Amino acid sequence: MEIIKNPSGMQKFALSAKRKGQRIGLVPTMGFLHEGHLSLMRLARKHADLVVVSNFVNPTQFAPGEDFAAYPRDFERDCRMAEGVPVDVMFAPDKNDMYPEGCRTYVEVEGWGKILCGATRPTHFRGVATIVLKLFNIVQPDVAVFGWKDAQQFLLLRRMVKDLDLPIEMIGGEIIREESGLAMSSRNTYLAPEEKEEAVILSRSLSQAERMIIEEGITDAATLKQFIRGEIEKTKHGRIDYVEIVSMESLEGMNMVKKDDTLIAIAAQFGKTRLIDNIRY
Ligand code: AMP
Repeated sequence: MEIIKNPSGMQKFALSAKRKGQRIGLVPTMGFLHEGHLSLMRLARKHADLVVVSNFVNPTQFAPGEDFAAYPRDFERDCRMAEGVPVDVMFAPDKNDMYPEGCRTYVEVEGWGKILCGATRPTHFRGVATIVLKLFNIVQPDVAVFGWKDAQQFLLLRRMVKDLDLPIEMIGGEIIREESGLAMSSRNTYLAPEEKEEAVILSRSLSQAERMIIEEGITDAATLKQFIRGEIEKTKHGRIDYVEIVSMESLEGMNMVKKDDTLIAIAAQFGKTRLIDNIRY
């Protein structure tokens, strides 16, 4: 596996691979890899000749006071894990090379960055869209793979790709979970044992809501949301940020769930750790 740190070096490498007719797959990550990330790399492998993983904790998607400095990092371990997939290139730029002094251009997917997670993190998705467009321009992927774990992020980036006519196929990888059901996340490492145990309620209440829809025919969004809220409220450490049921097409709230267009999404804080989870129906 090649490790490239320099953005223009990465771009040269990518353009040369493309001239040789190679199909490039990109998996953007912030490192501290886990099985969820690896599953996306394996998916990228199936769709591309050359798999590039970016490893960059992107400062513009963190607000002041969020966990940018504390975000877990272990580059050596990340490299070993990615190499095992195998991945062809690990692109790990420096923050000053990605955002040199003077840069002032940002990408905004209007409206969609201010709802759900964007309601409490109003600059987050602007940072995400900007870094991902930059990565697309540097790595020149034909296909990009993102996790459904961050469903709003995936839908918003897919919107950006469509709106800006980018010739990139967007693929979503399913959420990889721990045995308990807890969605894997680099941030799970922040959880105290008792918080981690309680956080299982996120995936459990989502599965129960799905069962209510499928087995009991309950399609009323308010009833389903109330059920999930009630379950999280029973815990000692859980504090709900939101429980929403939205259309995947418009990201607008729904009164009734509609098959194949429904996203049930949760964000909740357990102790100091903000966790998200979702299911699609
Ligand atoms: P991150 O490093 O958290 O920015 O995540 C990088 C990519 O991995 C994003 O596309 C995430 O949606 C995806 N991802 C993170 N956790 C999981 C998971 N448990 N299952 C599947 N994909 C994931």
